[in-house]
Amino acid sequence: MKIKILGTRGKIEESKPYHSKHTGYLLDNTILVDVGEREFLDKKPEAIVFTHFHPDHAYFVEPKEEFDPGVPVYAPENLKLVKGLEVAEGKFKVKAYQFTPIPVIHSLKVKSLAYLIEKGDKKLFISGDVAWIEKKYHDLIEGSDLIITEASFIKKGGQIRRKDNQIFGHTGVPDLVRIFKPLTDKIVFTHYGSWFIKDVPEGRKKIKSLQDDEAELISGYDGMEIEF
Ligand SMILES: [Zn+2]
Ligand SMILES: [Zn+2]
Repeated sequence: MKIKILGTRGKIEESKPYHSKHTGYLLDNTILVDVGEREFLDKKPEAIVFTHFHPDHAYFVEPKEEFDPGVPVYAPENLKLVKGLEVAEGKFKVKAYQFTPIPVIHSLKVKSLAYLIEKGDKKLFISGDVAWIEKKYHDLIEGSDLIITEASFIKKGGQIRRKDNQIFGHTGVPDLVRIFKPLTDKIVFTHYGSWFIKDVPEGRKKIKSLQDDEAELISGYDGMEIEF
């Protein structure tokens, strides 16, 4: 599998070269996961999969534009703006790829899914935005060749908020490392917060400093390609 990271900027005002585009991943030039920028459609994907309908993952939700790409669209929930949407309930197949949706705790307003994507013996996990992933799902993620996750906050605990016993927001990079390093050898960070964009070399160092023998930690950038 080859994954191209189209955008690595989180939902922030700041922008830097190589970190100017919002979220999007192109899998083998075929499937687009999240569409944080309209221009990602120029890649002419044959199917589109959304982790959740926040504007930095779905460029059309804030201007409330209709989204009618003319290819199958899979998402955690229905949205009137999106034509031809199929709600991802249970495993589904897109071409040769098997998608297993995994519920993620992130927002009180929109449903969020991570995806385990399998083709042959290759296994990729894309987390989307994460406040937490319940322990019962960790077994499914185990043995991933690659995990792509977010880096909104570098501090432990991130920025978790609470309402009526429900948590939401983003956990911290150290917490994500702790969850994911037993489950893979390689973790790629995307969806950077201001802490990273303000000083990119320093941000990359901070991520690298959390690395140990268990897993390699990689700072993603707009346009990065990883083959595995
Ligand atoms: Zn989000
Ligand atoms: Zn986001």
